[in-house]
Amino acid sequence: MYDTAVIGSGPAGVSAVLTLKALGKNFIWLASEPVSKKVGQAELVRNYPGLPDITGSALAWTFQNHYEGMGITLTEEVVNGVYETDGYFTLLARDKQFEAKTVILCIGVESVKPIAGEETFVGRGVSYCATCDGFLYKGKTIGVLCTDKRYEHEIEYLAEIAQKTYVFPLYRGYEIKSEKAETVMKTPLKLTGGTRLERVEFKGGELDIDGMFILKGAVSPSSLVHGLAVEDGHIKVDRNYRTNIPGIFAAGDCTGRPYQYIKSAGEGNSAAHSAVEYLAELKK
Ligand SMILES: Cc1cc2nc3c(=O)[nH]c(=O)nc-3n(C[C@H](O)[C@H](O)[C@H](O)COP(=O)(O)OP(=O)(O)OC[C@H]3O[C@@H](n4cnc5c(N)ncnc54)[C@H](O)[C@@H]3O)c2cc1C
Repeated sequence: MYDTAVIGSGPAGVSAVLTLKALGKNFIWLASEPVSKKVGQAELVRNYPGLPDITGSALAWTFQNHYEGMGITLTEEVVNGVYETDGYFTLLARDKQFEAKTVILCIGVESVKPIAGEETFVGRGVSYCATCDGFLYKGKTIGVLCTDKRYEHEIEYLAEIAQKTYVFPLYRGYEIKSEKAETVMKTPLKLTGGTRLERVEFKGGELDIDGMFILKGAVSPSSLVHGLAVEDGHIKVDRNYRTNIPGIFAAGDCTGRPYQYIKSAGEGNSAAHSAVEYLAELKK
């Protein structure tokens, strides 16, 4: 079991793992990409101390070079759920699972807002993981919302299992070969149903579905961790970056504004220190 699991590869996550490494902790680092896209996207960064007028792509390279130079490896996975069991945490990522005594959420803010009703039907029709839950929809009708080309192989996998698959691609260059997948060029607006999900609504129509797969590089905080206190879409933390769940910490954009690299990096560092203090308390 790991001391700590860190989720996210923006400045908050990078800073958290550098700190954990320096403090000699045994950790796992999970993120959907080697460095957060939001770092590489900046044209020119003028507010990061010591690195005046650095481009976003150079800053991303600097981050990656730094952590690799410290011998830190990143496990490229989207975490779909964090569950507490007997005083430790299990993190589910596709067909893999990881166990840790503490978790630091450095998950940024979502660029794709959750669909209305999404959180209500998690585990009752809404899934974030094709390989974990695909078999549950054998011969059924499903929807798949996809935000990135790199998840297209998961759509093809789902289309083979389901009887009918409606795909909602929210990116350019969509290309699916399966004849069993029908493309709907609309943005899903609402998921509705009774005890289970029954339909997806969009502008100008609705479709009956048994399940909805949401394939994106991030999951909303409250869908990721059941019972996590969230306010206005941000994870509630105290001054030590502790969430309402003992052992879970959060840092960076996900805890609130301002959305800035240096704020995220600072919080990642502080959250790692808090996690280490918490681990020391556990030993007493
Ligand atoms: C175009 C642009 C320009 C910007 N310019 C500046 C600037 O000049 N100066 C400045 O200070 N700030 C700037 N920002 C803001 C800055 O990008 C953010 O404040 C910063 O990246 C936040 O860092 P973070 O670590 O909190 O989160 P993020 O950088 O958002 O990183 C979050 C990471 O977590 C991963 N993740 C999320 N959920 C999961 C999951 N369930 N499983 C696995 N991985 C997950 C994401 O994929 C991502 O890698 C800019 C932003 C943009 C978009």
